[in-house]
Amino acid sequence: MSRSTRNYVLLAATTMSTVAAMPNYAAGYDQLPDLGSSAATIISAREEQMVGDDFIRRARQHLDFISDPELLIYINEVGHRIADASNHPEQSFNFYLIEDSNINAFAVPGGHIAVHTGLILEAENEDQFASVLAHEVAHVTQHHIARGIEKSKGSTLKTLATVIAAAALGGQAAQAALVYTSASAIEKRLRYGREFEREADAIGIRSLYAAGYSPDEMPGFFRTLQRWSRIKESGAPEFLRSHPLTVSRISESAARTENYPDVPLADQTNFKYIKAKLRAMYAENIPAELALIESEIADTEDAAPADLRFSYALILMRANKYDQARSEIADLLYQFPEHVGYKLAQSDIELEAQQYDLGIAQLAAVRQNLPEQWSHYEQTVDLYYSNALVLTERFTEAIPVLRKSIRKTPDEPLFHSMLARAYGESGETLKAYQSRGEYHYLRGNLGFAQAQFKQAAKLATSYYDKASLQARLEDIKRQLVTLGIEEPARRLQLIGPSNS
Ligand SMILES: [Zn+2]
Repeated sequence: MSRSTRNYVLLAATTMSTVAAMPNYAAGYDQLPDLGSSAATIISAREEQMVGDDFIRRARQHLDFISDPELLIYINEVGHRIADASNHPEQSFNFYLIEDSNINAFAVPGGHIAVHTGLILEAENEDQFASVLAHEVAHVTQHHIARGIEKSKGSTLKTLATVIAAAALGGQAAQAALVYTSASAIEKRLRYGREFEREADAIGIRSLYAAGYSPDEMPGFFRTLQRWSRIKESGAPEFLRSHPLTVSRISESAARTENYPDVPLADQTNFKYIKAKLRAMYAENIPAELALIESEIADTEDAAPADLRFSYALILMRANKYDQARSEIADLLYQFPEHVGYKLAQSDIELEAQQYDLGIAQLAAVRQNLPEQWSHYEQTVDLYYSNALVLTERFTEAIPVLRKSIRKTPDEPLFHSMLARAYGESGETLKAYQSRGEYHYLRGNLGFAQAQFKQAAKLATSYYDKASLQARLEDIKRQLVTLGIEEPARRLQLIGPSNS
């Protein structure tokens, strides 16, 4: 079971816990006209949402969206802490994580914000990471992409869809835009202008402060970026190409922090843990990362910190050194016996070492005795468990666990892919087609989704099944017409559950 085969879950944001918003003290510190409302007259919030949702589904075909719920729950917690403290707390948000070492993040209308793994790995603390999310949240609440279109006079949804792809992503990721338009249109790529960057920084820093983070870490992250640019031969990180960092932007940002009281750094426990996991699980060169971690451990004066030892256990697992990995994780669990993250890693090691029964038994035990203070891990534990059941072909046991997860987070394509396989292998063909349809739909392959739902409809005998499949098909047809998308069905690869 390699990492790629167990890359399974992406979480919709609706279940995330939120931190109560603090009063917006900062509004008085940085008076700035709200330029965000005019866009609503050109493109409605509903249209923005529809195009943004569709964009994210299509982007899944081109970018490596991470499905590990442990990571997604964390970035959604930080993201919603910011969003709830923003100037538009009623706007819904979803935060995604993309496996890419380039430092970048992007925002799409409708409240979809994606962060590259590289950005978290380079941020020095949670407050710096949060400052980027605050900037991106402001691009959304200020409708910057829609306002960019308004200026260029093209106000159709198709133009919006195209410009989202180009403005939000740029670079290699702009191929997601190919679904909508010709390559030449992408050449007219729209970047956020200087005015929008200023506004996103000014409004972002207010939310950062109101959420209890240190405003100083916004310019702090800019300094981190500059340092990174100097070290790397590749030049500026992608983030700076889509969000240009001018000298005035840095100095203005630093000046703005003087209007805010000093705030100590947030608690860094979760940030360090997540970073330790990312570092080990997404390292491309495993032997090099293993050697680096070993030398860092050797350099520590006293006992190495838990996060470094956690990275070590995970990289040992990825290097197939299971006995050493077992002993490292056992040491951590001796010190922190309740830590569910460590327990999941422990079962991962057994599953990777092909000790399937032991790995599954460990997961089942965690599931049955989830400590109260770890209740936010329920979804994560369920997914690790159902993934292990599917991989060991215990399909009938996996089905109810997967259905429970889908009820909570219906937008994660990999849940549907796993469920399609489980249904298919259990002889439930209609449900297998249906799940496969949902999977393709959530990856923006509307043509394939239609084909799967039609197959399911042929098998349907009950009135309920027929009616719900018909409704699903009509809904897809309506979306295709509204978005003005011609399905380039022949160009799309068939991706998905086996036996499709
Ligand atoms: Zn920006």
